Amino acid sequence: MSSAPTSHAPGGIDFTVPPELQELLGRVDAFIQEDVLPAELEIEDPDDILESWHVVEHLRDRARERGIYTPHLPEEWGGLGVGILGMALINQACGISGLASLGLNAMAPDEGNMHTLLIAGNDAQLEEFLRPLAEGRTRSCFAMTEPDVASSDPTNLETTAVRDGDEWVLNGRKWCITGADGAAFSIVVAKTGTDENAGHRNYSLILVPCDTPGWEIERHPEWMGSHSPGGHPIITLTDVRVPLGNLLGREGEGFVIAQKRLAGGRLAHAMRWIGVSQRALDLTAKRLLERKAFGKELARHQGLQFMIADSAMDLYASRLMVLHTAWKVQNGLPHRQEIAMTKTFVSEAFGRIVDRAVQIHGAAGIAMDLPIARWYQDARAARIYDGASEVHRMVIARECLKLAAQGQSTTAATGDLG
Ligand SMILES: Cc1cc2nc3c(=O)[nH]c(=O)nc-3n(C[C@H](O)[C@H](O)[C@H](O)COP(=O)(O)OP(=O)(O)OC[C@H]3O[C@@H](n4cnc5c(N)ncnc54)[C@H](O)[C@@H]3O)c2cc1C
Repeated sequence: MSSAPTSHAPGGIDFTVPPELQELLGRVDAFIQEDVLPAELEIEDPDDILESWHVVEHLRDRARERGIYTPHLPEEWGGLGVGILGMALINQACGISGLASLGLNAMAPDEGNMHTLLIAGNDAQLEEFLRPLAEGRTRSCFAMTEPDVASSDPTNLETTAVRDGDEWVLNGRKWCITGADGAAFSIVVAKTGTDENAGHRNYSLILVPCDTPGWEIERHPEWMGSHSPGGHPIITLTDVRVPLGNLLGREGEGFVIAQKRLAGGRLAHAMRWIGVSQRALDLTAKRLLERKAFGKELARHQGLQFMIADSAMDLYASRLMVLHTAWKVQNGLPHRQEIAMTKTFVSEAFGRIVDRAVQIHGAAGIAMDLPIARWYQDARAARIYDGASEVHRMVIARECLKLAAQGQSTTAATGDLG
């Protein structure tokens, strides 16, 4: 299905949502209101979603019945072929509950892994790894970060994959690998080249079934914030042997493929953060109207009104950035700078918005009875994963300075809006 809003002028966007997408968004919204939010009450322990996995499976059945399951996948893979702009709107709606994207089977890291397989996988790999993932029969993980090196710089990564006959032999340690416990397979970033001058071209992606001997969960560290299904464990790989055919894409292309995956992934996160931020602002505005202090409703204290106004502006700017970036991706325009700016801005706006929500809720903002304290923790992590804010700022500034060094305006590096 085609998804818009569409642009009519260079740099411009028509924000009208086309009827077919409006109808789909209506079904997603009904799913969230009628299935997802009531299902939240059935989760026994939000820190252990796997214990209540039957709830997620029931939501997936409901999503299939409503014809909205895996909307991001092409129709031949059981999806709806909704492009990135349509997914921007769906993910914003799904941000309201962590269960919503799980229920659609459109949650990180599985959604990103599905895209990566579609970008780089051959027919045999798609059948073996994508088919069961798309059908919701398996989960997966993406293993790049390592505990022993600063992984913001991918050329530091030490996990190796060495050819031995018709197999790759992998050795190394990974950590913070979302979803790894119980995952059927991992896409592992491993060093396959030895040329010191090749930089990121030394790295490849290798598909590793998680029941391969030598793949071990070393430990589950305690992490701040929401607990994804399968956690974020430390993994050791000791002489892990997989067929040479498990190379995903070409040798040395690991980061080129990973960048493509991350572009969509970063945008999907930003969209969900907007959904959470909207829910936080809605709860906050309601709270202001309900409570009184010093002879009047909290809502009539101007200092608190200003906080609401600041959150509204953060949300508006975040939405526009996401939509504009998604429009650039969908139309095949350069978007690296916009992805970096959007990921950084929206993750930080998310933090500001939930921080204000905590403050305005007083003690209730700290209590884990309400979802706000958990969102506050989640927002802190958002500034680190999928590229720390500082690394994105480095990329953003580099582009501005490159243009300046060429004697040009920095307009092209600031969204290129004219
Ligand atoms: C909730 C969560 C889920 C995650 N899931 C996954 C996953 O599924 N798979 C996976 O592989 N990884 C995952 N990660 C890891 C994440 O991608 C890394 O933490 C991130 O890339 C940063 O790497 P690092 O932790 O090694 O930090 P380091 O590289 O050690 O950097 C530390 C800090 O140094 C600063 N810094 C780094 N470079 C620069 C620079 N050039 N200029 C200025 N400052 C700089 C930044 O502030 C950065 O936060 C996850 C992380 C979190 C928090």
